[in-house]
Amino acid sequence: MPEKISKTEEEWREILSPEQYRVLREKITEDAGSGKLYRLEDTGVYVCAACGNELFSSEAKFDSGSGWPSFWRTIAEDAVDGSPDVESALRKTEVLCARCGGHLGHVFGDGPQPTGLRYCINSLALSFVGEETPENSITSREAPA
Ligand code: FE
Repeated sequence: MPEKISKTEEEWREILSPEQYRVLREKITEDAGSGKLYRLEDTGVYVCAACGNELFSSEAKFDSGSGWPSFWRTIAEDAVDGSPDVESALRKTEVLCARCGGHLGHVFGDGPQPTGLRYCINSLALSFVGEETPENSITSREAPA
């Protein structure tokens, strides 16, 4: 379970760009097709733009044609709040970062198999971390306990 992060709106405003703040804290959906990560096909991990929580692997990204980065599963079961069963996803469920509570997007029940889910995520809510090569595999991330 990711350790929760809690900040005041003032603090979030300092960390996030105005565009990121609108999406992550005010839950405003970015314009379709506007996101930098929408068409990215590189191998790596998509993390929360606000707190760095790992959210989605490039392996689960697919082209939904929607205009927003789309994934058929999260990288871990507890990566987001709002992990639905397919039945509830049919009603459109908000997806929040499980660590910082930031608004990421929504999940729908019309995605591809094997999950049948479509996580429709704002590009502005994500940062992309490309797959690391062995030479630079040392990171500042905490080692797993
Ligand atoms: Fe987060």
